[in-house]
Amino acid sequence: MAGVSRLQYTTEARLIRVMCTGRVDLSFVLRGFSNGADGVFIGGCHPGECNYMVHGNYHALGMVHLCKRIMENIGINPERLRIAWCDAGEGIRFGRIMNEFTSKVKELGPLGQGEGMDENELKSKIEEVTKLIPYIKIAKKEKLESRLENEEDYSEFFTSEEIDTLFREVPSYYIEPDKCQACGICLRRCPVEAIVGGKNKIHVIDQEKCIKCGTCLEACPPKFGAVKKISGKPVPPPIPEEERTIDRKSKEK
Ligand code: SF4
Ligand code: SF4
Repeated sequence: MAGVSRLQYTTEARLIRVMCTGRVDLSFVLRGFSNGADGVFIGGCHPGECNYMVHGNYHALGMVHLCKRIMENIGINPERLRIAWCDAGEGIRFGRIMNEFTSKVKELGPLGQGEGMDENELKSKIEEVTKLIPYIKIAKKEKLESRLENEEDYSEFFTSEEIDTLFREVPSYYIEPDKCQACGICLRRCPVEAIVGGKNKIHVIDQEKCIKCGTCLEACPPKFGAVKKISGKPVPPPIPEEERTIDRKSKEK
C-alpha cells in the first residue's frame, strides 16, 4: 500500500495487521488505549467488497459504533476512534486518512489529559470496562451480528441511553450454598478461574475475578440450579471457608 509505493504519511502511527477488520475486537481497541495510544484507527476493505465474503467490515462498523458509545459513557472522546475504508490499491487515500486522523488526535491532546482525567482515573475506567467486555458482547450479540443497509445508520445504531442501561444492569452471579452439589462443572467451565471449589466443597464465585460472562449459570445442571443471576442489588457475602464442606454421609442418613 502506501509503504510499498513509497508514499509519505505520519510516522506517529503503529500498524497492526489483521486478516480482516471483522477480527478487530472491542478488547483490541481498549488495549490500544490502555497501552498509551491517543487514537485508534481501523482501516479495511470497502463495504460490499469483502475478500472473504463474510462481511467482517460490517461487523467492525457495529463494534466501532458500540465502542464509541462506551467511550462516551466513560468520558473518553469518541473521536479518538475512527474506522475508514481503503483497500490495497488505495495507498494515497490511506496516507491522507492517516494524516487527517493524526491531526485530529493531536487536536484532542493526549488521552486522558484532553478529557480532563488523571492517569489513574483513566486507567481504572478502561480496566473496569475491559472486564465487562464478555458481558457487553453477550448483551449486544444480536445487534453486533446484524447488518444495516446504510453505513450512515450505524452512527445511531447504539444509543447513549442503551449504554447507560447496559452498565446500570450489569449482573452478578452467585452460587447458592444450600443448592450447590460440588459437581465442579461451573469451576471447569469458568473462563477466568473465578470459581473456588474442590471435592465436596460448596463452590464460591470470586466477584473480583468474575467477568460476568454467565457461563456458570448455563453450566450448572438444572436439577441443582445453584447459580443465581443478580441485578440491581448487592451480592451476598461468600459462605465462610470452614462451612463449605458438604457432609454427604449425614445427608444420606
Ligand atoms: S459469570 Fe461465572 S463463569 Fe463467568 S466469569 Fe463469572 S464466575 Fe466465571
Ligand atoms: S455447577 Fe452448580 S452444583 Fe455444580 S459446583 Fe457449580 S454451582 Fe455447584
